[in-house]
Amino acid sequence: MAKIILCAGINESITTGLKNYFLDAFDILPLDSVQSLMDAIRTFRASLIMLSTDLPDCGSIQELSIALRSHNNTETVPLFIITNTGPDQKEKIKLFQAGLIDGYFAMPINIEELAAYASVFLQRQALQEELEEKNLLLSKMSITDELMQIFNRRYLMHRLDDELERIKRYDYPLSILMLDIDFFKNINDKFGHIQGDNALRGLGLLLKKNIRAMDILCRYGGEEIVIILPHMNAKGSLLTAERLRTKVSETDFGTIEIPLKFTISIGLVTLEETADIGIDGLFQLLDQQLYKAKNSGRNQVSAAVFRNNTAV
Ligand code: GH3
Ligand code: MG
Ligand code: MG
Repeated sequence: MAKIILCAGINESITTGLKNYFLDAFDILPLDSVQSLMDAIRTFRASLIMLSTDLPDCGSIQELSIALRSHNNTETVPLFIITNTGPDQKEKIKLFQAGLIDGYFAMPINIEELAAYASVFLQRQALQEELEEKNLLLSKMSITDELMQIFNRRYLMHRLDDELERIKRYDYPLSILMLDIDFFKNINDKFGHIQGDNALRGLGLLLKKNIRAMDILCRYGGEEIVIILPHMNAKGSLLTAERLRTKVSETDFGTIEIPLKFTISIGLVTLEETADIGIDGLFQLLDQQLYKAKNSGRNQVSAAVFRNNTAV
């Protein structure tokens, strides 16, 4: 989407001058009232706002500036005041001192000067946006497993902490399953590590498609995955685990030329209402169940319920 400069009450010679200066870099949007300005800031993310002191429905420029500074969509957007009546030095200083405006221009206006001044703020704004995007990406990266594109172990532990705290107090069940690929070493040996990685990516996608949006899918380590199933009881989670196990066993994770199939073993633990268990206790139970599933021939689900603070 093109970047936008909102020009409220600004005369046409200035908006035309700005259009000629900024060409395709910014859309100049002329507005003729405070009402249309407020509608516009709800619709667009402006890069700069220019405000005339002549707006017909504007009681006080100071109040309008405060309103723009307090609005979520415009609190950090640079704001210039343009006045037709010559500079009001007192008001100008008051607005600058209050940190409400970033520029104040009186007629006659030199377009080149106005546009050059605007460019400084627009560049700063662009850098700020770039920084925000990078920060967002960084925080996403810090909780995402790069290979499988699912949550990583750090996020799993943090989230489990929260979920285990919550379940102590609330009247709903929580199920957690831990799955491990069967004989994955052999897959790497036979097909190579790169195909092994591709198979892990494929597994991530398949699991994502087959769980609810509220479920939390995390890579615990190597080829071990933990899925948190909030509000799911023993019966529901066993059905889910069996469905995932069957789907995996029926899926070809290779290519048309070189098929690559494997199975998974699943350890499942359901914590019943108001269960009080720590992370270590939970992982002990999960490990036990996964071990059972492996020892009973793999491609199995083994489940336990944690009720009245004992596993059954
Ligand atoms: P089983 O679990 O059935 O007992 O046998 P396994 O062969 O799968 O044994 P284990 O779970 O102990 O071994 C995991 C293997 O997974 C070891 C390693 O070669 C492989 N692995 C772990 N992480 C990755 C990875 O990121 N990429 C690939 N390609 N392989 C991985
Ligand atoms: Mg394994
Ligand atoms: Mg393993």
